[in-house]
Amino acid sequence: MSKYFNKRTKNLIPYVPGEQPKEGETFIKINTNECPYPPSPRVIDAICQSVNESLRLYPAPDASLARRAFADKYNLSLECVFAGNGSDEVLAFSFLAFFAKDKKVLIPDITYSFYTVYCDLCELECKQIPLKDDFTIDVDAFVREKGNVVIANPNAPTSLALDISDIERILNAHPDDVVIIDEAYVDFGGESCIGLVNKYDNLLVVQTLSKSRALAGMRVGFACGSKELVDGLNRIKDSFNSYTLDRLAIVAAEAALKDDEYYKSVIDKIVSTRESVKKELMELGFKVLDSRTNFLFISHKTKNAEDIMSYLRSKGVLVRHFKTNRIDNYLRVTIGTDEEMDKFLSLIKDME
Ligand SMILES: *Cc1c(COP(=O)(O)O)cnc(C)c1O
Repeated sequence: MSKYFNKRTKNLIPYVPGEQPKEGETFIKINTNECPYPPSPRVIDAICQSVNESLRLYPAPDASLARRAFADKYNLSLECVFAGNGSDEVLAFSFLAFFAKDKKVLIPDITYSFYTVYCDLCELECKQIPLKDDFTIDVDAFVREKGNVVIANPNAPTSLALDISDIERILNAHPDDVVIIDEAYVDFGGESCIGLVNKYDNLLVVQTLSKSRALAGMRVGFACGSKELVDGLNRIKDSFNSYTLDRLAIVAAEAALKDDEYYKSVIDKIVSTRESVKKELMELGFKVLDSRTNFLFISHKTKNAEDIMSYLRSKGVLVRHFKTNRIDNYLRVTIGTDEEMDKFLSLIKDME
């Protein structure tokens, strides 16, 4: 480790994203939960229209066009919406804004692994609350334990969703704590708790355009919550980088949020592919959790998950395997196009 690193840098265990193929490699990529379909044509059009000489100018520091579109879609006031460079940035800012050493951060033991990375980065104490044996979130434990709360709903990589009534129980048990609900996958069948934002000052809901809006490459995420919480996020942002969203990202986000019709058909398609792939996998001897996301979390009765992953990779198909306690015999498989999933299923069958 370099002598130039400070203590914080030395102690970090950085997040490792799923494999991104190198230039020239052609894989069927069902390992990072990207959308297999293109963004709305209106999004491409909006970006093209903005590729002009105005790029010499800084973008709007408050990204208000994008925030306005999000606020309108969910019936929120503009001041209750924050936008950032991907929801990862929004989450990092939230940890910086609301969490401190004197209070634990409660997260499920199996969840988006960036949460523990942010705890390390911000030097926070994190308490991982074990999922129940069926991999559902232990709501009673979250009600009982003291601390700020971060929950992905639906959860990743388990794909399972919590009911809003359970989230309300957690909110009511934590009136003096901030409760962050990460809804990266909510559009694929979860129930959003954005409707609770006006009722609970301590609720921050985080969403992204990377999954259901097919814009992982543009890096746009949102948070919504009370004006108080959004003010806190703005204090952090404006102490870090005035312009976190570039000009193209802002117009792309606005167009994406205004084209519900296009995205509804994309989401319907992914959900219908998900359900048919799920059925086939079960017939092939897989246990498949009840997904409310754009991926399936699966485990075979006899075959080893890491072996399946390596075999698929050798045949040009990437899926995600986590070498994590309790889930090391599971694979997370993103829902691709029907063609991609047929290829995946036929390889699995060949493995017999
Ligand atoms: C993909 C994902 C994110 C990050 O999304 P970006 O907006 O692309 O940064 C956040 N949370 C969860 C649970 C995710 O799966």
